[in-house]
Amino acid sequence: MLELTSDAVLLDQSADDWRDALTQAGSALTRAGLVDPAYGQSLFQRESEGSTYLGNGIAIPHGTPASRNYVKTTGLRLLQYPDGLEWHDGNRVSLIITIAAANDEHLDILRRLTHVLDAPGVAEGLAAADNAADIIALLSRAPVQARLDRATVAARVPVASREGLAAVAATRLYEAGVAGAGFIGQIMGQTPVSLGDKLWLVEGSADVTQPALGVATPAEVGDAAAVFVLARLPHADEAADDVTRGLLERVLGVLESGEAPRLAQLDTGQLIGRLAGESAGAEVLRVRVRNAHGLHARPAKNLVQIAREQRLPIRVRLESGGADAVSAASLTKVIGLGARRGQMLVFSAEGEGAATALEAIGNAVRSGLGEDVLPLEDTSEARPSRNKTEPRVYAPAPAADTALDAVAASPGMAIAPVFVLRLPEFNYADTSDDSISERKRLDAAIREAYGQLTELIQAADGGDMAEILSMHEEMLRDPELREAAVEAINEGASAEAGWWQAIDASARAQAALADRILAERAADLRDVGRRVLGRLCGVSMPEPPDHPYILVAEDIGPSDVAQLDTQRVRGLLTAKGGATSHSAILARSLGIPAVVGAGESVLSLADGIDMIIDGERGRVVPQPSDDRRARANRAIAERAELEAEAFTARFEPAVTTDNVRIEVGANLGNTSHAADAVERGAEGVGLLRTEFIFMAHPAAPDLDTQVTEYKRAFEALGPGRPLVARTLDVGGDKPLDYWPVPPEDNPFLGLRGIRLALNRPQVLETQMRALITASEGRPLRIMFPMVKDVAEFHQAKAIYDRVVQEFDGVDVQLGVMVEVPSCALLAETLAPHVDFFSIGTNDLTQYTLAIDRGHPRLSGQADGLHPAVLRLILMTVAAAEAHGCWVGVCGELASDAQAVGVLVGLGVHELSVNARQVPLVKARIRRLSQAEVSTRAEALLSLATAAEVREAVEAEQ
Ligand code: PEP
Ligand code: MG
Repeated sequence: MLELTSDAVLLDQSADDWRDALTQAGSALTRAGLVDPAYGQSLFQRESEGSTYLGNGIAIPHGTPASRNYVKTTGLRLLQYPDGLEWHDGNRVSLIITIAAANDEHLDILRRLTHVLDAPGVAEGLAAADNAADIIALLSRAPVQARLDRATVAARVPVASREGLAAVAATRLYEAGVAGAGFIGQIMGQTPVSLGDKLWLVEGSADVTQPALGVATPAEVGDAAAVFVLARLPHADEAADDVTRGLLERVLGVLESGEAPRLAQLDTGQLIGRLAGESAGAEVLRVRVRNAHGLHARPAKNLVQIAREQRLPIRVRLESGGADAVSAASLTKVIGLGARRGQMLVFSAEGEGAATALEAIGNAVRSGLGEDVLPLEDTSEARPSRNKTEPRVYAPAPAADTALDAVAASPGMAIAPVFVLRLPEFNYADTSDDSISERKRLDAAIREAYGQLTELIQAADGGDMAEILSMHEEMLRDPELREAAVEAINEGASAEAGWWQAIDASARAQAALADRILAERAADLRDVGRRVLGRLCGVSMPEPPDHPYILVAEDIGPSDVAQLDTQRVRGLLTAKGGATSHSAILARSLGIPAVVGAGESVLSLADGIDMIIDGERGRVVPQPSDDRRARANRAIAERAELEAEAFTARFEPAVTTDNVRIEVGANLGNTSHAADAVERGAEGVGLLRTEFIFMAHPAAPDLDTQVTEYKRAFEALGPGRPLVARTLDVGGDKPLDYWPVPPEDNPFLGLRGIRLALNRPQVLETQMRALITASEGRPLRIMFPMVKDVAEFHQAKAIYDRVVQEFDGVDVQLGVMVEVPSCALLAETLAPHVDFFSIGTNDLTQYTLAIDRGHPRLSGQADGLHPAVLRLILMTVAAAEAHGCWVGVCGELASDAQAVGVLVGLGVHELSVNARQVPLVKARIRRLSQAEVSTRAEALLSLATAAEVREAVEAEQ
């Protein structure tokens, strides 16, 4: 319901022209405290992109998506102009409904409005009303919606009697949540009424919460071709009666079309199509809405335009809901569908050229109807695959006592017997005749899997593990997954097959995403899927040994790790996965050495053979010789000693033997981990990846939300410890749902980092305001990601200069991240303007060596110790020294055991690393002499390859 109060209604307004009226609309929203004054400007901006005239004398001005930051609370104001005014598109407007919406809530508002405005006489009533109460009454009518979709329809069930079919259809309504158990009793107590042509009807209103139509057709037609069960609201008003009548008319329409005898040949989708008025000869096209904010006014207008250009009438409905097909050429009807991102639209048309017309519409919807859209899995096009696992044959195991190099994922070294985790085989029937009990089995398995996860989360007691498992819980709760599985079950799949089809389709869509981090979540989905499948098939995961071991797996899922006793797992080796996969992240947070992406041959290793794992170098050696084993044991003992020493001295500063102090900070993506970082000896946060805060919210976090987040870090840091916050680094490979970027061929070379942020200056402005507000005079360092030259820095700094004027007594420094080679090459031109440089070696290495940093096969070669990268670091340090700036390194290289001395030798002042690594990095620095390492570093610069650099460093250690 719209929460309207009388102060939302401004009666009897007058304006010189539409501009004047629009200014009044903006002021009304501002006065109401719904928006910042800047929102008013965006009403004009939006109008310049296309009129917001809706029809019936009503315009609905609202801001552009970019202006959502100015919205404080979603709401609307209604301005009545009894004399009318001419809108800029020539239409006459007597009502302005101006909307402030922080995200897609306005879609709801629009849907409600169109519903109301569609009713005869309402628009005129609103324009003529002389008191606010009448207007509120007119606008506040809640829409009554019907249900007639895949959840309420059961096609070709193995039941022949009409009473049995009525019971099936009634149960469908019960399971769809539109009626309670009393309804089933009421329906079963009645005799179905014949409509003719073997169609039967029963109706009831006991326990009904929403008007709905249940349908069941038999697999074999006896005396019934279909039974319809109509659910009426017990206390229906006129609007509800209209809706119920609409449902009945659908049934009568089928009867009149003469199609009744053939109903039992149709599948669920076709059956709904017929009930929605689509004839057997109609062309039908299903296509999902991809727009971030659904079919709001602008894309809807575009759709209507394209529909009108076709020579045939085109109808459209939502696949889920009331099967209410409307004309695609009517703007109010299309908006009234309230279609959200991800929902399936079903278009239909009949006659010559229908297929071509639908294709044009489908292409337009897929490409965003004039808006930039993110790709979205369209399950109507997806081909499901089976999980039934054939026994697999892998390449021969790696040779004994031979080093196998792969991707280093988590530092540390261990020797232990291997345990190869081979995925269990799931064998199950593909099909089932009894969709009701299959659905029950599925629901029970999901519930059990959920319960297991809850227990594991409790046992994990916070931390990364708990976070990932909670994400698994969320995945299990996803109604779309269950719906997709139920859809397949309703069409004859077994619970196992239906569930795995849903998981597989969704995981493949995820894996296809451009962002590698998001793509790697496909493994999580399959992990969740296997958990449920295991419950359905009564198969449990293989039992690990009860002694220490190195876990070898294809691509271990987080919940597999969670089930294993981490005290006994001494190392992780996976066939698949990159350094950013969850297994790698978990291994790092648990402090377990890990090597990933080693190839399938490791799955042929025999259980129980000994293996050395070196997570620092990304190397494993199966069945090592005695000599190699002795060397590894020495290295392990030395490391253990160093770790213990490092932990004891973690709060001491990191000072070299010749008295040079290097600051060691922590890299964070979550401000709630700041206290833990301090506890591990971090002297500040050297890199706050603020995009993770944005990614954790469904819409851009507003000022207050951000202030709360950043404050949490400042408070944990206490006085004196600085917070280096990187401004939002999204786009390209790291998309934000609510900030769509058009697909790019090379996302790493596209709209990302500061390039994207400068396109949305108000986001940058709010973020800087939030950071400075949260700092309350404590040391804040702000840095911009992916800067390529001083011009970009100046553009970002101009916003900062504006914002900082609002504050007194700040302690802020401004810097840039050196991640793009041009930034290092031009450091001399930047240094006079910045306070500091922070070298992001992850990106600097990928751009210098032209190797995708997450590439499963090549990322091992993206080595930050490459002399080309070292030369760029030296250039940056030299430029900084000449202008009195400080230089930090916040990429992964800063915690690489071999790199710490090199970086200190090159003259950097600060290292920022994973919090777990802080004590060790500090300890390593304490063993260095700055003078010595700087002479050595100089010599390294003349070498030709990363391997030569590593060899030289190893020889000196
Ligand atoms: C880097 O590129 O080194 C860096 C620290 O930034 P990110 O890894 O978040 O891209
Ligand atoms: Mg980076």
